[in-house]
Amino acid sequence: MIISIASGKGGTGKTSLAVNLALSLPGQIQLLDCDVDEPNVHTLLSMKNEQVKPVYTLVPEIDEQKCNQSKNCVNFCPNHAIFVGKKGINFFPELCYGCGGCILSCPNQAIKEGKRQLGVTHRGVANHGVEVVYGNLNIGEPLAVPVIKAVKEQASPNNEVTVIIDCPPGVSCPMVESVHGSDYCVLVTEPTPFGLHDLQLAVDTIRQLKIPIGVVVNRSGIGDRQVYSYCKSEQIPILLEIPHSRKIAELFAEGIPFVTKMPEWKSQFETLFQMIQERYGR
Ligand code: SF4
Repeated sequence: MIISIASGKGGTGKTSLAVNLALSLPGQIQLLDCDVDEPNVHTLLSMKNEQVKPVYTLVPEIDEQKCNQSKNCVNFCPNHAIFVGKKGINFFPELCYGCGGCILSCPNQAIKEGKRQLGVTHRGVANHGVEVVYGNLNIGEPLAVPVIKAVKEQASPNNEVTVIIDCPPGVSCPMVESVHGSDYCVLVTEPTPFGLHDLQLAVDTIRQLKIPIGVVVNRSGIGDRQVYSYCKSEQIPILLEIPHSRKIAELFAEGIPFVTKMPEWKSQFETLFQMIQERYGR
């Protein structure tokens, strides 16, 4: 089963939920950190035997000697990454999505396939036996999706393994790519007007993917009741509430998953998982 943990805004407690859930469940657990811009699952867990793999994307390499400026590539490129100016052909790698169409469109075989490194993936085993995979996008690199895909490609195909995905915040391509293919999506929010606004965006996005949704309210006790009213009106189950707690915040600030020091929470995460399984129909 694949469970993605997402939210419409950053700082709601996605990573904390993903890690504490992973440490609470029996059986084989794999934790994928798809927030490749700023992965931090591994900072809450001690990783051993990390394997690092580079992630590349295809880039066209243009041979100006062979190019007769047919402009087929310019006309083909959906992202306007190739441009013919007065001084010849120009290529903008940060606009290129690596589709390879320009290579096929050139009548003179003046473009060949090159590659550009976007980042790396790390894979290792954390304490309590949880397998962790996370991605690191190169600084300044706009193309996060291929690195997210490279992390997800390492998800176990074994149905006995529970895969938990910590998604990037927001509702743009990186979040959608991270959640895509999940069996269930948990949206983490706070009971505040900001939390409600971003929860609504996230719900609208995930519903388009036709993935069942449940909500975890973090820092419950602050703010107002609008999130609860919204979930009720939209028939979205609230799976768990994690109270606004100084002890939980202090443990997080020290890089300690709170379930390791507050073991009474373990059963609550197990119940959360059972609720997800029941709603998923397994
Ligand atoms: S590989 Fe695709 S996106 Fe990149 S320059 Fe060629 S046509 Fe454009």
